[in-house]
Amino acid sequence: MGNYLAIVGRPNVGKSTLFNRLTKTREAIVEETSGVTRDRHYGYSNWNGFDFMVIDTGGYVVGSEDVFEEEIRKQVQLAIDESDVILFMVDVRDGVTPLDEDVSHMLRSSNKKIFLVSNKVDNMGYYSQSNDFYALGLGEVYSVSAMNGAGTGELLDVVVKEFSPEVDLSNDESIPKFTVVGRPNVGKSSLVNALLGDDRNIVTNVAGTTRDSVYTEYNRFGFKFKLVDTAGIRKKKNVSENIEFYSVMRSFRAIESSDVCILMIDAQTGMESQDMNILGVIERNNKGVVIVVNKWDLVDKGNNTHLEYAEAIRKKTAPFTDIPIIFTSVLNKQRIHKTLETIHEVFENRTQKISTSKLNDILLPIIQATPPPQASRERYIRIKYITQLKTHYPSFVFFCNLPNEVKDNYARFLENKLRKEFNFTGVPIKLFFREK
Ligand code: GDP
Ligand code: GDP
Repeated sequence: MGNYLAIVGRPNVGKSTLFNRLTKTREAIVEETSGVTRDRHYGYSNWNGFDFMVIDTGGYVVGSEDVFEEEIRKQVQLAIDESDVILFMVDVRDGVTPLDEDVSHMLRSSNKKIFLVSNKVDNMGYYSQSNDFYALGLGEVYSVSAMNGAGTGELLDVVVKEFSPEVDLSNDESIPKFTVVGRPNVGKSSLVNALLGDDRNIVTNVAGTTRDSVYTEYNRFGFKFKLVDTAGIRKKKNVSENIEFYSVMRSFRAIESSDVCILMIDAQTGMESQDMNILGVIERNNKGVVIVVNKWDLVDKGNNTHLEYAEAIRKKTAPFTDIPIIFTSVLNKQRIHKTLETIHEVFENRTQKISTSKLNDILLPIIQATPPPQASRERYIRIKYITQLKTHYPSFVFFCNLPNEVKDNYARFLENKLRKEFNFTGVPIKLFFREK
């Protein structure tokens, strides 16, 4: 189970308007296809503390100016396949149309949670007209105005009840689950094949906690690990036009189901914007990461090439620079062992628990020496104590008198100190400030 919300409906009912409203302030994931930056179709949203991803399937309908029933049908099927909750949007000013009836029919026969949203209810004048949509047989009708925001908060209040509060699908087992992500052709399958060798290395096949993931447990080169496999599990019928969409969705799901992700990049091209997007998803999901620069055999090397290369990558990933970078040639079987070793180290870093006394013994003197800047005249921020939360990933609470006054750059200073004193290489960490 993940927190995926899809918006479906006829063209022009207001799907993208709602999408933009939900994802507005969030970091966008821009997908680039053959150099053309397309509209974004996925974005993160948060409501009442629930993080979820919004999918605008409408963006995949080709020629959405004309109403092509077949296209809408595909869009709805996509939403049913790829999301957990579906918002079915209709236009209050048009009333029930035959196409709305077709879509309702498809949605009713799926077992997904559906919310019927009557849009363009900009004022109370339209409110009673929303009642027409009860005829679609999808239960409650939620009246909203995607344009001015009316009703959207009430809608989200009920929608987020369908989501899990903390999306972390990894359980507390001691064997790392990992996945290899990256752009096409960087060498992901080659690495996986090199790791897997023949079938005798398989320990077990374990169905994952998401319907899309299967973990296969291996014991290779002296390491136990579980590889998250999302591709090839569900055979798609006619998806050629949505191939990139599916591959992106799969990598999101694979990331969610993993403890540590290998972000593989091609040594010849370096870290590009797509790679940065994937890293953003990994960070956002608080997963461990190892950057693997593959096809190192194709690079002309001097003495310091790898250092310069790593430096160039860190410039791009800043402020998150505490990431292991490994230079491999999967072709020549170079540093495959090192890669596995590093995955395990990052896994250890991510699962470590630091006692409250140790944290305070080390951090409080540092804070005393370099306290937070004064909030304002006569107002001093005092950090009293620190404790690690029991989350799946490292997160720390700093109890203080004026939590809202702690500035980002001081938080970053604290994060750097934590990284310096303890080993969190390859692991995003979170800091919270709470009043005490
Ligand atoms: P989509 O094709 O379903 O993604 O629809 P769009 O989001 O592109 O919206 C279609 C048109 O409806 C645009 O001109 C929007 O400005 C307009 N629209 C969207 N939401 C509302 C709304 O709540 N009220 C009004 N009056 N217009 C809206
Ligand atoms: P994927 O699309 O990321 O899974 O990439 P593949 O594993 O299919 O590899 C794409 C191509 O790159 C194939 O032709 C591989 O043989 C080649 N390749 C993979 N790793 C290396 C490497 O380390 N060096 C070189 N020169 N080629 C590689």
